[in-house]
Amino acid sequence: MTVTTKIIRTTLILQFLFYGLFAIGQNATNRFTIHQSVQSRTDAIFDSLVKIRRDFHIHPEVSGKEKRTSEKIASYLLSLGLEVKTGVGGYGIVGILDTGRPGKKIAWRADIDAIATDLPDVVDFPSKNKGVRHICGHDLHATIGIGIANVLASQKEKLEGTIYFIFQPSEENAKGAQMMIADGLFNLIKPDEIYALHMTPYPVGTIATKSANVFVHMTAIEVEYKASSDQDSLVNFTKELLSSAQTYNQSSEFWDLKNVFNPELGVTNPNTIYKDFIALMSDFNIKKTDDKLKVRIMVHASSIEKLNTFLASIKSKIETSKYAKELQSVKFDFMEEMPVFFTPMNNQELTNASMKSISSIYGEQSVIPLYGMGPFSFSDDFAYFQELVPGVYFFLGGANYEKGINAMPHTPTFAIDEECIRTGVNYFSSMIIERLNN
Ligand SMILES: [Zn+2]
Ligand SMILES: [Zn+2]
Repeated sequence: MTVTTKIIRTTLILQFLFYGLFAIGQNATNRFTIHQSVQSRTDAIFDSLVKIRRDFHIHPEVSGKEKRTSEKIASYLLSLGLEVKTGVGGYGIVGILDTGRPGKKIAWRADIDAIATDLPDVVDFPSKNKGVRHICGHDLHATIGIGIANVLASQKEKLEGTIYFIFQPSEENAKGAQMMIADGLFNLIKPDEIYALHMTPYPVGTIATKSANVFVHMTAIEVEYKASSDQDSLVNFTKELLSSAQTYNQSSEFWDLKNVFNPELGVTNPNTIYKDFIALMSDFNIKKTDDKLKVRIMVHASSIEKLNTFLASIKSKIETSKYAKELQSVKFDFMEEMPVFFTPMNNQELTNASMKSISSIYGEQSVIPLYGMGPFSFSDDFAYFQELVPGVYFFLGGANYEKGINAMPHTPTFAIDEECIRTGVNYFSSMIIERLNN
């Protein structure tokens, strides 16, 4: 190597460094600018989004009957200039925002159905459909979905790739996602990544999530014996065996479900007591017939591995007990063809990346990392989409304790601080932009 070439190389390296840094600086400026535009657009449409949310709330529709809601969403998306597919798996809608430039394909899913309930509606704009109420916040999910579509459509010229908006019916009966998939959703669209949110009692202004499962795995465990002359001992033996296999005994603070949101014990603490558990969630159901005895109970587990280990251990303990001869089967039996109830499973890489992009734009306090899950019977059929496309399921904070707004879905006093519409539209519009640019 000669000295001359050394100088040329050094010059090239310096030029590269200079232009490289300049390009990075430009990118940072663009990045900042586009997220400012997102926020001004959200502010500009916020009042109209609140009106739309209240309209959905006043006219709730149960699973499978979301005709009006679906028509409103379709006409809104058409007004934004999106390509719109209707009737996908019942009243499902797909809006396609194609920037005309090649790039990533990102899907956003919002569920739109309400619930049959006679609980009174606690807001100033209550449901006019007697016996039906948005008590799970899907009126907000639908509104935030169209808000994101509006904001991203307004930034279309600055984006590359395609954004799909999936408005899913029938989430509450866990049928809608499968209906949309069976109706060819993923022939219509081919997303690389998929995202969704659900309202939760975290403070408004925050989002929360974790990688892997965000809800428990649920099943009924059913132990079946041949009829025996000493059924009482069989029942007592099974009850004691199952109870002793629980992670926490009945006197534990684990069972005070307020603790799920407690900063010391709850799921936002890395050392949460809700990280690794098996919990029996119902009373024992004993069924005796002439030739059989069945002992059945609901079980929640923090992971599928934990649940499988639990089953294997229970089975082996009964098989090696003095009741082995009476045993017929030990099975997981959530419902027909579904031994264990599904739960959303978040892709680790996408979870970390999306949490990081939101906190870098909106501040550390906007993102709450979770380390466990409450033993609630919640789930979401968004899980079916995630089986086919990697994605993340977020919780969106809708509570405001100073205003007495609690935001726990499916509870009588469920209400939401509508400021969460602004948070949801801002954070997730920005997140999708960051994913497209990734
Ligand atoms: Zn619900
Ligand atoms: Zn819900």
